[in-house]
Amino acid sequence: MIYLDNAATTKPTEKVIAHCESILRDDFYNPSALYYPAIQVKTEIEEARKAVAEKLKCTSNEIVFTSGATEANNWAINCGFKNKKGNIIISEGEHPSVFEPAMALKGKGADVRIAPLCKNGTIDCDKLFGLIDENTSLISIMHVSNETGAVNPVAEIAKRAKQINKKIIFHSDGVQAFCKIPTDIGPSAIDLYSISAHKIGGLKGVGALYIADNINIASMILGGGQEKRLRSGTENVMGILTFKDAVEDFNDASVKPLFEYAIDCLSKIDKVKVNSFMENSGGYIISAGIYGVKSEVLQHLLNDDGVLVGLGSACSSKVKKSRVLEAMNVDKAYIDGNIRISFCPQNTLEEVQAAMNIIASNVQKLRSKING
Ligand code: PMP
Repeated sequence: MIYLDNAATTKPTEKVIAHCESILRDDFYNPSALYYPAIQVKTEIEEARKAVAEKLKCTSNEIVFTSGATEANNWAINCGFKNKKGNIIISEGEHPSVFEPAMALKGKGADVRIAPLCKNGTIDCDKLFGLIDENTSLISIMHVSNETGAVNPVAEIAKRAKQINKKIIFHSDGVQAFCKIPTDIGPSAIDLYSISAHKIGGLKGVGALYIADNINIASMILGGGQEKRLRSGTENVMGILTFKDAVEDFNDASVKPLFEYAIDCLSKIDKVKVNSFMENSGGYIISAGIYGVKSEVLQHLLNDDGVLVGLGSACSSKVKKSRVLEAMNVDKAYIDGNIRISFCPQNTLEEVQAAMNIIASNVQKLRSKING
């Protein structure tokens, strides 16, 4: 199988897989216990925290481990929106784990404002700044789109937003950015930043929320007081310790040639609309609309031929239409035929070459069937 759905999840790296077994055998202790082997596990958790913090250019005490980015995003939206007063701003491009909690707040009467997208999938900054007023208490804008790979200059947006209203708490969903493009979050005006391990070769069920030192947000889960009393629950030791392996091993240099090659091939197919652009993409995600085909049908044919690709966002594949592509004003016919191809550093050019040939021939096959 040629796996090109890495924005949905990545295969754990060999180092992560090998480490899992030794953690299960030797590091099973409860990190809160006070005997030496447990203290050793706690020390290793702190080393993992340090590795994550280094990537975000922040201090270790600003990292709180969570069960993943969905939890981190829900936490940021619900607890960052202090006292449920004022208004909150998100964008049309947000992942459901930001969009849905914001909509739930709206359902309870909160003033939720939604910034539109530009045609290239980035946030329309002028419109976003126009939504801010003295009552805005939280803004959440994703760093890299999981659907198109579009990159938002979130550090700059946070800085300018705070020039309009300095009390704003600024959150960004950094899941598709972490380890893939520079994420100097610590020195920036960003207050909260969500990340996830399974998008970079780590395990599912572990992530983190960066909480800037000067920000007080309410605890996510109450209980035994782990994670500085902010997020109780016995730590996911295997997930956290292997998060460090994944961060240290991630090599972000290798996907650009794959991206360029794939874009070149897709552009040669008649009536294909590529929604991802090198100038604003980290190079990991390609969204392409193929006119006249149904993406689910194409996905099945590709699966049969050994190529796995995504459809828009895997997390929302139960929802038919793509809110994000609609917000970018993509034609419905192209949305219906939209596939998402996403890379990881382990993908090879040979794999991508083979996949592109298979995609081109299946598109031709489908179109010739439709045209009789
Ligand atoms: N945000 C984005 C942009 C994502 O791509 C994902 C994963 N699909 C999430 C949040 C949710 O992350 P997790 O799977 O760790 O809950």
